[in-house]
Amino acid sequence: MIYVIGIGPGSRNLMTEEAIAAIEDAEVIVGYKTYINLITEFIGDKEVVQNGMRKEIERCREAIEIAKTGKKVAVISSGDAGIYGMAGLILELLTKEETDIKVKVVPGVTASIGAAAVLGAPIMHDFCHISLSDLLTPWEVIEKRLRLAAEADFVICLYNPRSKGRSEHLAKAFEIMGEFKDKSTPVGIVKDVGRADEEKIICTFDTMDFEKVDMTTMVIIGNKATYIHDDLMITPRGYNL
Ligand code: SAH
Repeated sequence: MIYVIGIGPGSRNLMTEEAIAAIEDAEVIVGYKTYINLITEFIGDKEVVQNGMRKEIERCREAIEIAKTGKKVAVISSGDAGIYGMAGLILELLTKEETDIKVKVVPGVTASIGAAAVLGAPIMHDFCHISLSDLLTPWEVIEKRLRLAAEADFVICLYNPRSKGRSEHLAKAFEIMGEFKDKSTPVGIVKDVGRADEEKIICTFDTMDFEKVDMTTMVIIGNKATYIHDDLMITPRGYNL
């Protein structure tokens, strides 16, 4: 049995009861160190298999091997496991072999939803998620999605917006979206959603400070109707008020 669990953005309050119950039911916990550290209180003396970033395939293979021995395994992702998390990889690997291992995907609060609640109501209308990481997706595909999403006036939530190795991607993404997004379009930046050092910034497309963004930041770009009121970012649903 494998539980693939989204533990939310980082605080206990934002974990679901189902996620906590699944971790408690598991005998072995598998995940990236940083995420394991966020849930130590539920782990007790369970066996833990942890490794660093970019070891996802190894980690999931190991989880599958352990599950074959009959143990209940919990594979941990931050946010939701089905959004740039481990759920897809576990299921893809299992399609490649004959096995009757059961998988239960346990949903979690993804970073965009957590950040949206901090900002007010920026994703009240049609929105999309775009990851700026080109580790697994060609950069040309990312550019095309940015351009078309901006043209279609989606509210756009950017995952993996910036890292040391790719500091120029965010500025490039803004340049591409700028063809369709007005300078005054509200932009919400939330760093470390749900964690002790959570920080929120609301600005506009042309006053965006890329330096404020790091790898645990969510960037939400509004649509043509989104506005700022006090310290809130609001996208109207369309009600006549
Ligand atoms: N499965 C995760 C996403 C993993 S991709 C989820 O559903 O949230 C990693 C990216 O998610 C980060 O680069 C960042 O953009 C975003 N992210 C994850 N945790 C975050 C947090 N606590 N605060 C802000 N952004 C976060």
